[in-house]
Amino acid sequence: MDYYTYQKSRNAAWHILLDAGIDRLPVDLKKICRHLRISVKCYDQDADGSSQIINGSPVIIIRNGLFRPRARFTIAHEIGHILLGHVGMYRLVNREPSPSDNPIEQAANAFAARLLAPSCVLWALEVHTHEQIMRLCDISQAAAEYRMERMNLLYKRNRFLTSDLERQVFRNFQAYIRETRDIL
Ligand SMILES: [Zn+2]
Repeated sequence: MDYYTYQKSRNAAWHILLDAGIDRLPVDLKKICRHLRISVKCYDQDADGSSQIINGSPVIIIRNGLFRPRARFTIAHEIGHILLGHVGMYRLVNREPSPSDNPIEQAANAFAARLLAPSCVLWALEVHTHEQIMRLCDISQAAAEYRMERMNLLYKRNRFLTSDLERQVFRNFQAYIRETRDIL
């Protein structure tokens, strides 16, 4: 994924966290879907998730019986496809993050990870294990491990709060960070 695509996914995640007024973990996806007027339906289907625009409104369809953390990542991934303008443009597949995914899927995965596990919040909570990410963000072990790898890189480079958007997200989470840091 080139830097521009990455940056677009990242900024889209920060924008929607701000616009939907998200100020705590686990990120409330119902609130985000309500804000974006996206409806979510469950059906028996092979893919974990898919999105369509029906009569001008976005609809996310997830597979019946998905384990909740996985359903959350799937919904976040599909919100990414919708916000990044992929729906109707590309043939989309869904699964958990994999380095071999095509750039469109990688962009949706990058969006989903940043939406559900904002790095500045994890950094402020001094998160250093994928188990903590799983618990705080309510995402699967695979998604949490992938996010932890990214966090390790960010810790090494000390890349937090470098953009104004990220600083705004961080400010919204201040109260949550204060109350959670003490009990971790
Ligand atoms: Zn996808």
